[in-house]
Amino acid sequence: MTPDGLERATSFHGHRGSFLIVGLRMGALILKELGTDGQWPLKIRCFAARPPVSCFVDGLQLSTGCTLGKGNISTEDRDRCEAKAELEDENGIRSITVELRDEVRKRIESSFGQCEEVKKEVEEYLLIAPDEELFQVAREV
Ligand SMILES: [Zn+2]
Repeated sequence: MTPDGLERATSFHGHRGSFLIVGLRMGALILKELGTDGQWPLKIRCFAARPPVSCFVDGLQLSTGCTLGKGNISTEDRDRCEAKAELEDENGIRSITVELRDEVRKRIESSFGQCEEVKKEVEEYLLIAPDEELFQVAREV
């Protein structure tokens, strides 16, 4: 993720935060796994708890180009931090489910209410941690 991308996301979303970064990372992973630049013909369903967890949905929209306005992203109110992406192209339909690992979610949530330094530390970790460490991925053909 470029510093520019994070800045753009922060200004769109209204504040920089851990779950926003989670969404940016999640979207980048989805594009990489499905081998697409995003936008059409990608479709995403998000399973998201309320804020602050659901902040990831904004990061996901920015990083994948799937937007509420275009109708190719939707959210369902569930206590999760998960996205299911589906891509249909000349090679058929491929789909992938990406979920934030429980231990990472707990680490983020335990940083809330603590000092700025602790929150920053978690954000820095989320920016550089390997995908496998942050997310659980399930592929369907
Ligand atoms: Zn937020």
